[in-house]
Amino acid sequence: VAKEQKRGSGEVFREQFEHESRHRMTLLNNLRIALEKKELFLMMQPKVALKSSMVCGFEALIRWNHPVHGLIPPTAFIPTVEKSGLNYDLDLYVAERICEILQSWPQMNLPVSINISANSLVHESFVHDLHQVFQQYRIATNRIQIEVTENALIHSDQSIVRLRELREHGFVIVLDDFGAGFSSLSYLLRLPLQVIKIDRAFVAEITSSNQAYELLKGIVQIVQGLQMETVVEGVETSEQLALVRALDVDQIQGFIYYKPSLVDEAFALL
Ligand code: C2E
Ligand code: MG
Ligand code: MG
Ligand code: MG
Repeated sequence: VAKEQKRGSGEVFREQFEHESRHRMTLLNNLRIALEKKELFLMMQPKVALKSSMVCGFEALIRWNHPVHGLIPPTAFIPTVEKSGLNYDLDLYVAERICEILQSWPQMNLPVSINISANSLVHESFVHDLHQVFQQYRIATNRIQIEVTENALIHSDQSIVRLRELREHGFVIVLDDFGAGFSSLSYLLRLPLQVIKIDRAFVAEITSSNQAYELLKGIVQIVQGLQMETVVEGVETSEQLALVRALDVDQIQGFIYYKPSLVDEAFALL
């Protein structure tokens, strides 16, 4: 869109913008309906402990089972959700779904992480509302990891207060996609974090670039030095795995081990 604008074709830009915002409105309405109809569901991707190579937890990842378009990935609708403010409802929806899942699998007692939009943290009522869901379902908060991605809002004073409140309620706070986007090392000091997930972009080139490997190694060392848990995301090949294994990370989450799968399949691994 920005390119069109630069070319000076204001008309094209306007039409495209209107088309996009119409598209976004439709998407948004459909999403609201989908939440009510519970067309959105959680898949689970196992995380693997490096030392034991055992499954040590799961990340819940949302999917939209659209009646016409089929399975829609979160990347196709989360940005719109966040722009519209629907993230607050979506995050509570995800909390409820994970509680239902954990309730129907009482023998599964590993930690589970959910993704929460950093935008939701700006709202004063969010922590109360989220915590209430887990109380209602009697799910212990200390096995729930809250993954937040760093974005422009996460370093706001309100968000830091919210994260501390979540921590006080027992949730484990995870910084997701660390190093991607507009990250700053100072987050590591300012936010009450227990776990850092290093973005998969840092893994992608470690087999072809020694510099990329050194960068990953350095990040891992910083996180370890801060006494936080390290998770490396996006390990896809055995060559990458061998290199990551040489680093002393705590957990690996990547296609080399497991892709996200249906809850029953994921928990059946145990
Ligand atoms: P994320 O939280 O960083 O989740 C990890 C994403 O990386 C997942 O994509 C997962 O399938 C993918 N992944 C895991 N291992 C590998 C690998 O080895 N290679 C590659 N190429 N990809 C891998 P997914 O499920 O499409 O989710 C994308 C993003 O959407 C998530 O990134 C998260 O930011 C967001 N998201 C997903 N579920 C939710 C949710 O319930 N709520 C919110 N607010 N955001 C969500
Ligand atoms: Mg995540
Ligand atoms: Mg993310
Ligand atoms: Mg991530």
